[in-house]
Amino acid sequence: MKISSDFDSGNILVQDASNPHKVLLAMRKDLNSDHFQWFHFRVDGLTPGARHDFSITNAGQSAYSHAWTGYNAAASYDQQTWFRVPSRFENGALSFGLEPEPEHEQIWFAYFEPYSRERHASLIAKALALPGVELQASGRSIEGRDIELLRVHRHASATRKVWIIAQQHPGEHMAEWFMEGIIRRLGDSADSELDALLQQADLYLVPNMNPDGAFRGHLRTNAAGQDLNRAWQSASTERSPEVLFVQQAMREIGVDLFLDIHGDEEIPHVFTAGCEGNPGFTPRLEALESEFRQRLVDSGAEFQTRFGYPRSAPGKANLNLACNAVGEEFDCLSFTLEMPFKDHDDTPNPQTGWNGERSMKLAADMLGVIGQMVDRLR
Ligand code: ZN
Repeated sequence: MKISSDFDSGNILVQDASNPHKVLLAMRKDLNSDHFQWFHFRVDGLTPGARHDFSITNAGQSAYSHAWTGYNAAASYDQQTWFRVPSRFENGALSFGLEPEPEHEQIWFAYFEPYSRERHASLIAKALALPGVELQASGRSIEGRDIELLRVHRHASATRKVWIIAQQHPGEHMAEWFMEGIIRRLGDSADSELDALLQQADLYLVPNMNPDGAFRGHLRTNAAGQDLNRAWQSASTERSPEVLFVQQAMREIGVDLFLDIHGDEEIPHVFTAGCEGNPGFTPRLEALESEFRQRLVDSGAEFQTRFGYPRSAPGKANLNLACNAVGEEFDCLSFTLEMPFKDHDDTPNPQTGWNGERSMKLAADMLGVIGQMVDRLR
């Protein structure tokens, strides 16, 4: 049996693979950072009919140690269909295993259904082939990977600017699945609800903010060890060119609505965090936030408002976060959207947990709500 992670978003260290009934593994830290939580590895040479068990021994020391209770690892025989394997967290280790289906000699395991760089390239190509979609600009990561900013402009009447960025935290692969859901809906030429939105607004989309971190199998940071979602007051060419690129484009273009797409390790629900702690938070923004959330619930989307982060006290927001920084600077409706690594427990699916397809569906539902509210953003 051979275990490898030398590929896009791979991350695992093999401690002892001599016994297939108890393979001991560990997660690698992000480069230049102590964060770790993401894992993704391939196992070759499975023994038909035998049970294989894996134990990630440093799970208890990861960035979010409460993440593992109630969590089940994702697995796939073909990197297309991902399913969950029952997992348990005991004595600081995350353990899972299975008896592989006999026709398969290899299997992949990951913290979440991975969104590959290859799929990213194909997504950008697909988007650019759609009517009214162009490459507005392209930024560069520290290691020289492209950060595409797509503009969706279909009607001269459109005056509002809706921004959606994703995967500042590179291990949060559900975020780019969400962006694929946006682009998938843009491909439906008979979608009158979408067309009504685009009569009033252009979309500005950054499907992947942190390609270096994603490729390296990081959880939280870029190649410099910088958490991009803590850099919005201090973005620099040296440590966070990814943020600087988007901030400069926002200042040129303007922002009327901002969504920053993330995944949460611990909370098994989809939720949003808003700008209630911003110094510039007003009753207008508060009403827009409540209406957005309520409309999303009413739309039947996989979303809820009971569970989430504690609300910030007035004036106490951390303005290093994208959501708060953009909401404050542009006086606009601004949210962090969090999707779970576990499941959305309001409508659980034990076979898949939260996954790529559900992230895409949520994105389509969210475009509907943006369309309902676009005429009142200002
Ligand atoms: Zn995040």
